[in-house]
Amino acid sequence: MLWWSQENISHCCKRYDWMKIKRISRRKFMKSGLAWIAGTATSLGSIGKAASDKEIAAVSRTSIKSLRAIPTTCQQCPAGCGIIAYLDGERLVQILGNPNHPNNRGGICAKGIAGINLVNDPERLLHPFKRAGARGSGAWTRITWDEAYSTLSHNIREMLEEDRVSEFVIDKGQDDSLFDRFLAALGAPRIIDRNALKNLNRSVAALSMVGAPALLEDIEKSRTVLNFGANPFSNHDFFIGFARRLVLARIEKGAKLVTFDVRMSETAAKSDAWYPLKAGTDGIVALAMAKVIVDKGLADSDFIDKKTDITLSDLNRLLTPYSPESAERESGIKASDIERLAVEFATRKPSVAIFGGGITDHQNGTHNARCVSLLNWIAGNLEKDGGLFFPQHSTAQQIIEQQSPPLPPGLRNTIRGIPDLDKTNIPIDTYFAYLSNPAYSEPDCQSTTRFLKDENAVPFLVVMDTHMTETANLADLILPASTFLEGWGLSNAPPLDGIPILNLRQPVVSLMSVAKALRSPAFDVGKLLEPSFQPMGESVEIGNMSLELARRIGGRLSQELPFKNTSDYVAKQISSLSGSGIQEGLEILKKKGFWMDPTSEKRTVSSFHDTKETKKTLQVRIRSSSLEQKSASPLPVYKTIESHKHTDRNEFILTTFKSNLMGSGTANSKWAREILHENRLWISTKVAKQLGIKNNDRVRVTSPVGSLRAKVLTTSRIHPDSVALAEGLGHTAVGNVARGKRFKSKDRDTSLIWWSQKGNGVNPMEIIEAKYDPVGGGLGLKDTVVRIEKLSGGQTE
Ligand code: SF4
Repeated sequence: MLWWSQENISHCCKRYDWMKIKRISRRKFMKSGLAWIAGTATSLGSIGKAASDKEIAAVSRTSIKSLRAIPTTCQQCPAGCGIIAYLDGERLVQILGNPNHPNNRGGICAKGIAGINLVNDPERLLHPFKRAGARGSGAWTRITWDEAYSTLSHNIREMLEEDRVSEFVIDKGQDDSLFDRFLAALGAPRIIDRNALKNLNRSVAALSMVGAPALLEDIEKSRTVLNFGANPFSNHDFFIGFARRLVLARIEKGAKLVTFDVRMSETAAKSDAWYPLKAGTDGIVALAMAKVIVDKGLADSDFIDKKTDITLSDLNRLLTPYSPESAERESGIKASDIERLAVEFATRKPSVAIFGGGITDHQNGTHNARCVSLLNWIAGNLEKDGGLFFPQHSTAQQIIEQQSPPLPPGLRNTIRGIPDLDKTNIPIDTYFAYLSNPAYSEPDCQSTTRFLKDENAVPFLVVMDTHMTETANLADLILPASTFLEGWGLSNAPPLDGIPILNLRQPVVSLMSVAKALRSPAFDVGKLLEPSFQPMGESVEIGNMSLELARRIGGRLSQELPFKNTSDYVAKQISSLSGSGIQEGLEILKKKGFWMDPTSEKRTVSSFHDTKETKKTLQVRIRSSSLEQKSASPLPVYKTIESHKHTDRNEFILTTFKSNLMGSGTANSKWAREILHENRLWISTKVAKQLGIKNNDRVRVTSPVGSLRAKVLTTSRIHPDSVALAEGLGHTAVGNVARGKRFKSKDRDTSLIWWSQKGNGVNPMEIIEAKYDPVGGGLGLKDTVVRIEKLSGGQTE
């Protein structure tokens, strides 16, 4: 997983000069790593006895034996926390945060802990299958990997020979640099990159202003935090590391936290103040605050003069239409509150304005992000303690990019999902979904399901996943994927303190059911996998699958992927750091789980300024020529979302949210589902009363693309114009746990699913329209207007 690689964003195919990276010497790497270890451990022994024996030692509750501890990296969300996996014999029994990891500092969330459920799940997909009846009928025949590889390599070779690689569609839900290398070597497959798509509006906004797809917030030193639609206490790209720093700022610096959100999120609930506003109107609130700051002479005029492309008088003109009163009319937030908060933001320094999906997942999301960013520029919150900053040069990113060249320009993320594919005239030969489940997670997913089921539209559908997902149910070929705890990988962790961190993911499970993985006689298991570490059943790492396909297809592909297996690949990535001595470098990572250069200077402005090129790009571009070229407003502006203008009494803007327990890796987790297994529709108590709806009544929720039945939660914690549903529930596949069904298995807990009578919730994607921001291209996930109708016989409890 690349945290913020330019590869991840369609609009950043070109390299940005400020990202140029200083190579570090092998000597420095070794010296610093060893020094760190020497300070924290008494033995470098086996992998299990890692750098910090003292902190990570644990004992089995049942056998009182010492547990083996293996440091690795969590991949249940993009935060990339350092974790320690504990094994009792060969069984994974516990996952805790790595106390030495600089980001999460020993913290871990429920989703990370539930990685155990993912590995030990009795419903995991463990063998390759091919379809044996009509598509979607559920009839399967088990096949060998040899047969699966033959079929796939034959298809790919034909597409290559006939110069129609664009008919190969890749839908990937998780990044893997070896798989990316395989795709790059293929030439021009069409790629749907789900991770990059999630942050498209945010990335386009940041690129248009600072020439980088993201900045980081030095939140631990902030004293005033204005939060527009982010929920760092439950769901955030840097989740645990960021939340810890925000909590520290609150406790140690007395930081004030103010949240604007349509619903009372976990973060809003823990803020000093929560302002519920009409969905998608954050931009005008931010602009009105900016106007107050400028009008009152509180703007950082020095920063504006020297570091931006705009003058104070230009700013005055830009902000003229955005009075606090106009923002009140649009958003519902009182003008007096806007004024007071603006003054506080400009005077109670250091301050920072942060934002999240609550403002970017709209058809005006890119401009919303630009408007909130403008607040930071006006207050001069860049490269100052407690403000926004550019991370230092990323050695880690260099390592990964050296071994994984970016795909040809223009090929990534040009496809926003199946609705986009559907519109093109390019035929599809093979659709390959890796850890992606569009039949469940794409907006208007019922149309997606019809599309994937249509053999004329999608002649050959391949799904590689850990479970039989809704999409796998439609597949012609199903391949069992290993979990993140069973394979190798290197990734950039978000450098929350400014210093790059290289994370290692290594196998922690040496498996029980082992062995007959990869049954092809032509496939040398001994060479491919380290004997003691094999993914469960016949599941395979996507990287190893890529290598085997490359070998079989031959030619350029096999030349471009000259690696024995994923661990060999990781070792070679490390060796590129120094050119030699790879084993020592890798051994340090194996023992610690991550690497960062402890001799790096503390982040300073100079870390950003140290090349001529970076000096040039430091200027913040408030007027964006790239947006102008797209016929969008070059300046931050607010635009009302058309469909939100005239909602009647029975129409609501549907917003969605993610609990930290939800994610593809926890869909079938018994622990996560026991805590969260239903999602009621949030509706304002006052509005519900006007409509004659009571708590727990059943309603039909209808949008332009479909309808669903949901139970109601009446609450004062939501704006009256909105209703809300949690994402991640209402599965019709994946497993019995995900579907809320009790069943017998080798895990006795599965017969104790006490919530089986309650159902398993609803999937909001069934009724969400596929509408996009015309500026950034991101999905307007939180824009669909729905009608609510109380069902007769609706029950109350
Ligand atoms: S925050 Fe993300 S990476 Fe960290 S433990 Fe939780 S799921 Fe894993």
